[in-house]
Amino acid sequence: MRTGPTITSYLCDLLKRAIHCIIKVIKERCNQILRNMEASLTARDRVGIQDFVLLDTYTSESAFLDNLRKRFHENLIYTYIGTLLVSVNPYKELDIYSKKQMDTYMGVNFFELPPHIYALADNVFRSMQSEFNNHFILISGESGAGKTEASKKILQFYAVSCPSTKLLNNVRDRLLLSNPVLEAFGNAKTLKNDNSSRFGKYMDIQFDHQGGAVGGHILSYLLEKSRVVHQNHGERNFHIFYQLVEGGEEDLLRWLGLERNCQRYRYLVQGDCAKVRSINDKSDWNTVQKALSVIEFGESDIEHLFGIIASVLHLGNIKFEADVRGYASLNNNQEMHWLLGIPTQVLQQGLTHRKIEAKTEEVFSPFSVDHAVYARDALAKAIYGRTFNWLVNKINESLVNKDSSRKTVIGLLDIYGFEVFNVNSFEQFCINYCNEKLQQLFIQLTLKSEQEEYEMEGIEWEPVPFFNNKIICDLVEEKHRGIISLLDEECLRPGEATDLTFLEKMEEKISGHPHFVTHKLADQKTRKTLERGDFRLLHYAGEVTYCVVGFLDKNNDLLYRNGKEKLIRTSFNNLHNYYKQTTDTYISVTPQVVTQFKSSLVSLTEILMSKEPWYVRCIKPNEAKQPGRFDDVLVRHQMKYLGLMEHLRVRRAGFAYRRKYEIFLQRYKPLCPETWPNWKGTAAEGVQCLIKHLGYKPNEYKMGRTKIFIRHPSTLFATEDAFQV
Ligand code: ATP
Ligand code: MG
Repeated sequence: MRTGPTITSYLCDLLKRAIHCIIKVIKERCNQILRNMEASLTARDRVGIQDFVLLDTYTSESAFLDNLRKRFHENLIYTYIGTLLVSVNPYKELDIYSKKQMDTYMGVNFFELPPHIYALADNVFRSMQSEFNNHFILISGESGAGKTEASKKILQFYAVSCPSTKLLNNVRDRLLLSNPVLEAFGNAKTLKNDNSSRFGKYMDIQFDHQGGAVGGHILSYLLEKSRVVHQNHGERNFHIFYQLVEGGEEDLLRWLGLERNCQRYRYLVQGDCAKVRSINDKSDWNTVQKALSVIEFGESDIEHLFGIIASVLHLGNIKFEADVRGYASLNNNQEMHWLLGIPTQVLQQGLTHRKIEAKTEEVFSPFSVDHAVYARDALAKAIYGRTFNWLVNKINESLVNKDSSRKTVIGLLDIYGFEVFNVNSFEQFCINYCNEKLQQLFIQLTLKSEQEEYEMEGIEWEPVPFFNNKIICDLVEEKHRGIISLLDEECLRPGEATDLTFLEKMEEKISGHPHFVTHKLADQKTRKTLERGDFRLLHYAGEVTYCVVGFLDKNNDLLYRNGKEKLIRTSFNNLHNYYKQTTDTYISVTPQVVTQFKSSLVSLTEILMSKEPWYVRCIKPNEAKQPGRFDDVLVRHQMKYLGLMEHLRVRRAGFAYRRKYEIFLQRYKPLCPETWPNWKGTAAEGVQCLIKHLGYKPNEYKMGRTKIFIRHPSTLFATEDAFQV
């Protein structure tokens, strides 16, 4: 007799099937998880790590470079080293700067989203607001690395994210529009960058206690005036000249006596590239016109401004020929009436003669043709230089905030990076000296002060070896025996001193210095020979050979006395007073160019030292300005002189965050019933109590003498999140 399946066997069967099903589901889930993990691992492998601090082999330059390259090829141009932002120029438009992106980054902690310049800008802003103190963002990198673009992105972020009212919008617009104006007058196409800033710029943005942008102030550094009269092949003069000729209205050009043809003007064609594909001078002209009106340039200011610009062009076309005695005479005076509104007679004589004042009379000594050309170019440079300063002053007047209530400041420093060309001259010497000073500031603020702070706070610290470039700063700027002093000394011996006597003087006084090389000791010190008229400096970023020719001349920046008088006699009244003021000081005591630059750098350093530093380090991925190309050798070199590996070592060794006990307690005391609303004990005890309540683990933090140190940012973010809830 056949019997049917028993209940037990039926149940067993059911159970088996159920288990089978569950195993299948678990298997599938596991596979899914594995797939996800694999995907995320490959993604990580593919896109690299977003903070170099998390890199396993953080001391390896190659690992650093690999990570940067990987991210670059995925269009991830930003990477952190703690709170420092590394940015690689993509040389193409990326869809990461929309209003939506700005909103995404607002009020979000650093590590919650992919690295971005907006994240940095937002963090600086929030730190300033919560601590009510001043900050600055130093943006550095070589020409074409993306400094100016970065500073514009930061400014745009503040323009969008700060509270707005009608009045504040006014200030915001002026801050934003100061950029196209300064770029028109201070930027030019060079071989390295079609929009290269030819001056250093520091801009303060002032905020009221509600975070509204209420004012600003701009400082400019060392405009490359020589570009007005000379451009290398493939380079242009300052954009504004081409904008005026290409975009200026017919009436205006007629009034200025200009033709719509750049080829007509000697000062515009020496580089043989008046037209540049990436630049639209005509539409840029319109932008500048609009910007000038928003920044409250009156009609007469604008007229006079372009009167001056046109005068420079006319000046450049003036030719001299030798008269029978071999002295310079003008063979072409048709354009003279245009020049600066100065009476033609005065100008003619001024360009061909030098005024020598004897005790009782004035004597005019005639110029040779070469001399006259020199005097003409010197005048053009001086006019342009002063007009640029006047422009910066005018912009500052429109940004000034008269309200005396306390404000906080975010400073943006966009300044030329280290420069090495085939032939390096006085300009590169000044720029590279500036970079030594900024590196010194960086060392003081980050590396050195970090170590010193740990020591002061009684926190254990493993010393990080780093190269301190103070020795090079001293070599350049030390009183009496530094290169600047020696150069100035030579400039005070007119007629006797030459570029070569300056070189000899350096050989005599500083040839023993380990960072200075002349041809005599070149083999020994750098295993590379050196031409007789050159000297080499071993900068922190690498060796640079300078050609001494032109050092004295450029440092003197000579403008003959009657050249200065011509400036004062300009009939362009708006500029007249300004010229007069600056010319007066110029005539009485004339500090040499490099000494003026040195003192402006000293005051810049003072401005920066009193603020909290943040850094953006810009890297140029290739010399060809092409998207998608990453040249390892070029990038590795920039990593070195941007000090990235050193910065990473210090960040990894130390603590990511520190705050004074008082500030920390003040902010987070609502999170703990014992510290809220009033803590009776010391701030340090309050913080101890607070973090005990928050459950900080012993290895996550250290208590210093006056501050709490937190090892990883994530600990702080958790606290901040609790606070936000
Ligand atoms: P310089 O020292 O010569 O003034 P810089 O570091 O200021 O150089 P930028 O003018 O900012 O360089 O950048 C050069 C060019 O690179 C820009 O005109 C732009 O074409 C491109 N570029 C820079 N940054 C970005 C970016 N984030 N996205 C897209 N293109 C960029
Ligand atoms: Mg720039």
